[in-house]
Amino acid sequence: MKKLILCLSICAVIFTGCQKKEDSKSVSYSSENKMNVVATIGMIGDVAQNIGGDRISVYSMMGAGVDPHLYKAKAGDLERLNKADLILYNGVHLEAKMADVLEKLSTTKNITAVGNSINEKDLITVEQAHDPHIWFDVNNWILVSGVIKDALVRTDPEGKSVYESNYNAYKAKLEKLDSYVKEKAAAIPENRRVLITAHDAFNYFGRAYGFEVRGLQGISTVSEAGTGDVRDLADFIAENKIGALFVESSVSPKSIKALQAAVQDRGWNIEIGGELFSDAMGDAGSFEGTYIGMVTHNIDTITKGLSVEE
Ligand SMILES: [Zn+2]
Repeated sequence: MKKLILCLSICAVIFTGCQKKEDSKSVSYSSENKMNVVATIGMIGDVAQNIGGDRISVYSMMGAGVDPHLYKAKAGDLERLNKADLILYNGVHLEAKMADVLEKLSTTKNITAVGNSINEKDLITVEQAHDPHIWFDVNNWILVSGVIKDALVRTDPEGKSVYESNYNAYKAKLEKLDSYVKEKAAAIPENRRVLITAHDAFNYFGRAYGFEVRGLQGISTVSEAGTGDVRDLADFIAENKIGALFVESSVSPKSIKALQAAVQDRGWNIEIGGELFSDAMGDAGSFEGTYIGMVTHNIDTITKGLSVEE
């Protein structure tokens, strides 16, 4: 018996030693030996956690208030990425400053760009680039949840029934969320459904829920808003007597404050309607620190801001 055990452990050592990195399928995950998932943005990590349950451990690189357009991988991130069993990122050029890192990882690691699940024809194009803010149409995020579920099953086939059942439960919540946003949006008079934010993060939201959307900066925060952009948007707001402006948790409020001042110079006293979570969720552990919480907070804040009486 002892010999057998010795032989088995030697064989195990030899086998593990020879194993190639990508041969992760033979690993068995459980609530004790969790699959190590690394996500870039919190919205992806949150979906993974909801579907993976206690079979996975999730690390989201970008916490509350972090701008994914500008984020560069830190030394600690690289270490986590190299150790991950599964890496999930948005793609569609969202993580612009991490493109090299992600590309390199794609040759050696189990990695999925969840945004690739959106059909090319359904992606919004702004100035010849695809808009990466796909999570603001809840139906896009339902598709993405399916992709995340598939990636978990692929990495850990033994957990398939757990992932399938968690996915079905979470998908039902997202469908409810989509109905909630639709109802709240429909309650705002149509001529008031104009959403003005610091950067152009809400195009998918606008298309799905019937808002005209204007951002002071483009679909990335890499280039700053020019004085011409401020002037044009201020004219538009004053002429159309737009209800409110919104600041974003991951973008400095400076440009929106400058816009507010420019609108007031034109004789229209515009309010800041509150803070929206655009490219990052709220604090970890809070309701706003979940995808469902961030979307709920946003539509509630938008409804309140735009429904103010003149
Ligand atoms: Zn953005």
